[in-house]
Formats: sequence, C-alpha cells, structure tokens
Amino acid sequence: MKEKGGEFVWFDNKFVKWEDAKVPVYTHAMHYGTAVFEGIRGYASSSSNAAAKSGKNNVYIFRLKEHMERLHRSAKVYSFSLPYSADELYDATVELLRKNRMKESVYIRPLAFVGMHGIDLNVTASSPTQTVIIAFPFAKYFKGEGIRACVSSWRRINDATTPPLSKAAGNYLNSILATQESRRNGYDESILLDLAGNVSEASGENIFLVRNKKIYTPYFADSALEGITRDSAMTIARELGYEVTERPIPRAELYMADEIFLTGTAAEIVPVTSVDGKPVGDGKEGPVSRSVRETYANIVTGGSKDHMDWLTPVW
Ligand code: PMP
Repeated sequence: MKEKGGEFVWFDNKFVKWEDAKVPVYTHAMHYGTAVFEGIRGYASSSSNAAAKSGKNNVYIFRLKEHMERLHRSAKVYSFSLPYSADELYDATVELLRKNRMKESVYIRPLAFVGMHGIDLNVTASSPTQTVIIAFPFAKYFKGEGIRACVSSWRRINDATTPPLSKAAGNYLNSILATQESRRNGYDESILLDLAGNVSEASGENIFLVRNKKIYTPYFADSALEGITRDSAMTIARELGYEVTERPIPRAELYMADEIFLTGTAAEIVPVTSVDGKPVGDGKEGPVSRSVRETYANIVTGGSKDHMDWLTPVW
C-alpha cells in the first residue's frame, strides 16, 4: 500500500505494528498471485444522522459479513484454506478499527494468501496460508462528477481460464492492463468486453445501463464479479420502483443507453458521462442514476432507517 495505514494491522490473529507486518520473499502469492482479497468501506456517519447530530460520530462498515463470506467463496475456488471463519474475520475487523482509533471513513483490505509453499503449483487445502486485514483512511476514488470511459482493447478474463467470480489477486493483472490503456488514452476508466464480445464490467466496478427508465446489468456468466455494491444498487433500484434485469449487453448498447453507472466499493455509485468520446444521454448524470446513487450514499453513512442491517457500527 502506498498509504501508511492505521498503526496496527491484523495479521494471523495478532495485532502487528504497520511497519512490522512483513512476509518473506519466498511467499508463494508473490510469485503466482495465489491470494484472494476483499475491499470494504467504513463510512463516518453523515451529519443528518441522529447520532451524529447529538455529537456521537460513528463509523459504519458496509456489508461486512457479506464481504467476509465472499472472501471464503473466492478461496474455495482455489482450495486455499482459510483458518478464520467469516464471523472471526468480521470481529477482527471491528476490533482493528477500534485498536486504530479510527473515526474517519476508511478502506478495509482483508487478504488471504498462500505463504511458504515453495515453488510448487499443487496448492491444496493443506498449503500454508496467511491472513491480514489492513485499514486506512479513504475518501473518494474517482474525482469529479462523472467519468469518461472507453471500451478496452483487452478482453475480461473468463471462467474458462481464471474465473472472475473469485476475487483473486492474479485477476487484477487483467484490470491493470485495461486501466493502463484507458489512462494512457486520456480516459478515467475502462469497460471490458467478455470473450463473446458482450459487456462484462469495468476494471474494478460492475456496470449498469438505463434505457427508457429500465435498468440492465450483465449476468455473472458474462464475466462479472458478484459485486456487493451491485447487489445493493439492484435492491435499492427495485425499492425505488425501477425494473432491474440481468441480461447480456452488446457493446453497441453502450452508445445507445440513456444512462450508465458503475458500482463498486471503492468507486461507490458513479455515473459514466461518455463512452469512447460519445456522450451518454445528454452527457450528464441522469435521474435514475442520481436517485440510486443518492439513496445509496444516504444508507451507507447511516442517514436512513432503511437497511441498517447492512451497517456494522464500530463505536
Ligand atoms: N468488479 C471488479 C473487477 C472489482 O474489482 C470490483 C471491486 N471489488 C467490483 C466489480 C465491485 O464489487 P464490490 O461492489 O463488491 O466492491
């Protein structure tokens, strides 16, 4: 991490000083990408929140249980043994934020990796793994009001090779190639097509299109991650009365959509205002994206009575 995190890192069930959280160069994951991870946000409570009004600021971790359960599912695909249950990792995360006295918005990065396994590729359930949870202050991921995206010349990895449904470290080499290309060409983000040529997702976000007030998003089978923000956005959109349909999305539909938005823990819910230089709709955030985004922002900061079950208060 470029950022120095909180003072402590949770490392195999111990709190270790940030500068002492180290691994040997023999670590298997460093050679082969044999790691799975999560990205989670904790939000400082909004000023409209009742507790914040009374001066008791809190930090709410968003859908912590679901993230730790996904970490386990990602590990299972590769037969990595995780010695800590989702509940234990949940408790460890809350304790870590308390130990670091974190009261601001944070990013939380749990990472489970194959450790001292030599150079052998036969990773099995008995191969040694290590688990860390890192937390650091974090604000907005994309600057500005909307993002300018391009369709990448790189294709998204595929279930036939390295399954995108498992949030594995090695998958991100594909995201890095796409990101490098988009930044080199002056765009903010890349949208990747799957091997069949349909839209899959952005380098680190799921994608949604709006046409005639109806919302569409690709299937997991179109090489998309089972995003937790995706699920949250679908739930919120349906509660707001929108129809949400999962279906394959051909590339050309990106140029026909009234609105496009991306969802991800780091990016949150963010409108795409152009694709390959063509404006999406009128080139500004549309009303459907805005209502889903604003409702989400209110929920995550504890400003709504709805979906309090998605939030874990730290304090
Ligand atoms: N797709 C990819 C490739 C991602 O890296 C992420 C971020 N984890 C997402 C989608 C969005 O997932 P989530 O909403 O769970 O953060």
